[in-house]
Parts: sequence; C-alpha cells; structure tokens
Amino acid sequence: MSVGTKTYDVVVVGSGPAGIGAALASARSGAKTLIIEKHSYLGGMMTGGLVTGFHGMRVHQGHYSKGPGSMLMTDKHTPLVVKGIALEMCNRLKEAGAAYTDIDDPPMRVEFDPEALIPILFKMCQESGVDVLLDSIAFGLEMDHNRIEYIKVANKSGETHIYAKAFVDASGDGDLIEWSGAGFHMGTDENRRCMPLTIYMVLGDVDLQKLLDYYKQNPDDLDIGDPEKWQKLFDAGAPIALMGLHKLLVSAGKDHVYPMPLGCENEIAIPIFDIQTSVLPANTCKLLVDMAYGIDLTNGDDWSRAEMDIRTNQLPGILAFMRKYVPGFENCYCLYTASQLGTRESRRLDGVYTFCHKDIMTNAHFEDSIGRTGRAMNVHSTGGGKQDEISGGRKWTEAPNPIGADIPYRALISPKVGNLVVGGRCISVDRDALGSVRGEPVCMVTGEAAGAAAAMAALRDIAVQDVPVGELQELLKSRNVII
Ligand SMILES: Cc1cc2nc3c(=O)[nH]c(=O)nc-3n(C[C@H](O)[C@H](O)[C@H](O)COP(=O)(O)OP(=O)(O)OC[C@H]3O[C@@H](n4cnc5c(N)ncnc54)[C@H](O)[C@@H]3O)c2cc1C
Repeated sequence: MSVGTKTYDVVVVGSGPAGIGAALASARSGAKTLIIEKHSYLGGMMTGGLVTGFHGMRVHQGHYSKGPGSMLMTDKHTPLVVKGIALEMCNRLKEAGAAYTDIDDPPMRVEFDPEALIPILFKMCQESGVDVLLDSIAFGLEMDHNRIEYIKVANKSGETHIYAKAFVDASGDGDLIEWSGAGFHMGTDENRRCMPLTIYMVLGDVDLQKLLDYYKQNPDDLDIGDPEKWQKLFDAGAPIALMGLHKLLVSAGKDHVYPMPLGCENEIAIPIFDIQTSVLPANTCKLLVDMAYGIDLTNGDDWSRAEMDIRTNQLPGILAFMRKYVPGFENCYCLYTASQLGTRESRRLDGVYTFCHKDIMTNAHFEDSIGRTGRAMNVHSTGGGKQDEISGGRKWTEAPNPIGADIPYRALISPKVGNLVVGGRCISVDRDALGSVRGEPVCMVTGEAAGAAAAMAALRDIAVQDVPVGELQELLKSRNVII
C-alpha cells in the first residue's frame, strides 16, 4: 500500500486543552496548522474523559477550609491568573447556556456540558483555519539530525507521513517526546509509579438531598467544606462536589463489598470518592473514584488491562457499593461512562528548565514567563489511600501567598530537539508541579504558548530554542494571556 504525505507549517498531536490552545494559537499566527486526534471528537479529557470541572483559572486558596475557598464553583476571592483561549472557551460555553460561569469573570471551577463543548471546539478550529484530522493516531516519526522531519499517522487512509516545520506534543503522554529522543521522566523516581486512573461515571435516579442529610449528621465524613454551605449551593442550583464517605468505604471494605482497585497496595481500599453535580439534569450526578494504580500508560498491554478491569470489576462494584451503603443511591443506575480512560500522569519532558514545587510555593517570577498557574499541587496517591488519610491519600498543597507563579518557556522545550514544543501535562515539571499544571486551564495556557511559539519558529525558519521570548510574550499579551 502506498504511503500518503501532507505538509504543514505546524502539526499538533492531541486535542485536549493543550492541543486546542496550541492549534488555535498557531493558526491565528498565520501558520498552516493541522491538529491530529485519535478519537472522533476534539477535547481530550474535557469531552471524552467527562472532566467537566475546568479548575484553576484563579489561584487556589482554602480548598479544605470551611471558609471561602471550599466552594470552588462560586468562589472568586483570589486573583484570576488564566485568560486567553481558556477564558474565550468558557465565555463561549456560557453564551451557549452550557457552563456555570460569568462572562470574563469565571469562578475557581467552571462546570460545563461536554456535549456542548464538542461543536464549540470544532467551530473555534474552523473559524481560526485549523485543519482537523480525526480518528487518526500518530505512531512514530522520522528525525533529520536534531529536527523532526515528519510524523507517521495511521487512519482509514492507511499510513500518512505528515511533514512540518514545527511540531507540538499535546498528546498528554509525551509520545513525540519519546520518539524524538528529547528525554523524559515518568512517575516516582523509585519505581515510575504514576497517579491512578479513573473512568468517570454518570448516575441516574439519585437523591442528593439524602446524601446532604447524611453529611449533616456525619460532618466528619465530608473531606471538603461544610454540609450547610453545600446545601446553600444545592438549593441555589449551583454545582456541588461532595468528597468523602470514608466511614462507609471502611465498612464496605471490611464486608468485602467495596471492589479492590487494580494495583491498590492496602488491605482496605480508600480511594478518592467524589460525588459531583455539573451541568446535568436533576437527580443525576457524576462520580469520580480512583480505580487503578501502578499502570504504565506508555505500555499498550497495561493500558488494555486497566480498561478491562475498570469496566468489568470497578464500575459494577462501585455501583453495588453505592446502592447498598450510600444514602440517596439505593436505586441508582449507570446512565453512561466516559469514553476515554481518565489519565493523570505519564511522561514529563526533560526540558531546558524543570518547573518545580519550590517555584509554585514561592510564586516564582521568570523572565521567560509564558503564562501563570495558581492551581494547588494536587497529587493523588500512587498506591491508594490509607485508613487514617482523607481524600484517598492525595496531597493538596497550596502556595501560602495566593498570587500564582510564572511558567517559563524553557519548561516547554527540550535542549535536544530543534522543532518540538510541548504543551499540557507532559511539559517539563517535577511531580508536585505536575499536580498544578495538569489542570485543564493551565494545560490550555501552556498549549497556547506552545502553539504561538511553534508558529513563530516555523514562519521564521528558526529553532524553537531561538524564539525571541520578548516577542512571544508581547504576542500572547495581545491575545489576553496573563503573563
Ligand atoms: C479523572 C480525572 C479528573 C480530573 N479532574 C480535573 C478537574 O477537576 N479539573 C481540571 O482542571 N483538571 C482535572 N484533571 C486533569 C486534566 O483533565 C488533564 O490533566 C488535562 O486534560 C490534560 O490535558 P492535555 O491536553 O495535556 O491532555 P489530554 O486532555 O489527555 O488530551 C490528550 C489528547 O491527545 C490524544 N492523543 C494522545 N496520544 C495521541 C496520538 N499518539 N495520536 C493522536 N492523538 C493522541 C488523546 O486522545 C487526547 O484527546 C483530571 C484528570 C483526570 C484523569
């Protein structure tokens, strides 16, 4: 079979928040731009993963407190640090009646309707002149010295080699990073264990008032916020997120009713258990539970094993637990599940600079800042929560002074590859900082900068390491990005 070819200025692999930011920013700079996505729609985790809590436009402060900060969907008490394409997308969702936010003034966490986002993303790409290639997987590349010459893509046409002057890796898993030899880190230093996997599930026939009443009688079983404040939001029709159920999980674990998450290292499983509402009909909710630990997402066999176990053992088992133990869920059933496995962590670029824990804690300022993050470092347990830990053993670390930190351009590029820029959760960070930059709004920030830089490099025929950062910053600022 013959191999097809295509040629672009900039090719973006992956269409999650980073890929969307990158493709729009590149095309708006005048570069002939293609976005490639292995699924049949755009959006990555935002759509296919049902991760509909766009979380981190503002600096996180007081998440676990009972005061301001605990109610993420309405709180606006800290500075806005993300605008640009992320804000544009939230505004378009709001205009379509599909998001819980205010125009140009989003709260900490913007809940939206993923089905409404899919056509919005297609329209944004069309309006900006981005070519879209769906149901197409990038599976390798060819180097020419220290530059990527083309990437190999498979779809119904067979194999196509796609040439470009610059490439953006927005695959989440850093596929181009590995194939180009840019170098990466993955998971914990000792044994490469990553944060757990989750498949979001939407449940019908639930009585959330009964759950709120349970929490009012058992406030110690609620990890975040206070039940009376959640009640007020619920009564006002705002989204809520009730994380906890520790006591019920322990009882169910002792009775061997709760399913053991794949790869869990404890005798009794205490995962994150978060019951969320969103832009969803009444009497339904979303369920976020950590379901599989120790999976290597860069290994196809591991990935398949996790998908199968989650759908065969975890989801039905969790449903059985809900019906038996959780007030208000006696008759619940599964309406639908996310079509994409929820992935939080895999490869991280070994970049020119590694953005780190200290940078976030000290609100670091960088001369080559391309955007900001104010998100707390949200790092889920790699082996499962223990009985004395809340929130499934996750570490949530907020900077003491809530103003946010600069993200340097150097964390988006490798010293080794002349035409690769990285956006999203695979940029160059340590594991703690990953907990911050992996938030969808922040992925869009790094994606937007990556796309603008790739276009600048492609149109000027220069290496991504030689992009004039001052000009890049001016361009981003002119596009409403907060630097
Ligand atoms: C369960 C869960 C809950 C979360 N909760 C929140 C939350 O409440 N708020 C928040 O802001 N963030 C949350 N996050 C984090 C956030 O969703 C992700 O970190 C973010 O979406 C990563 O963005 P990305 O663009 O880097 O990658 P992704 O969103 O993962 O997108 C990558 C895209 O690339 C495509 N792709 C990958 N490889 C290839 C290839 N070789 N060829 C073609 N296409 C490819 C994938 O199909 C996918 O569409 C959560 C994540 C998970 C898993």
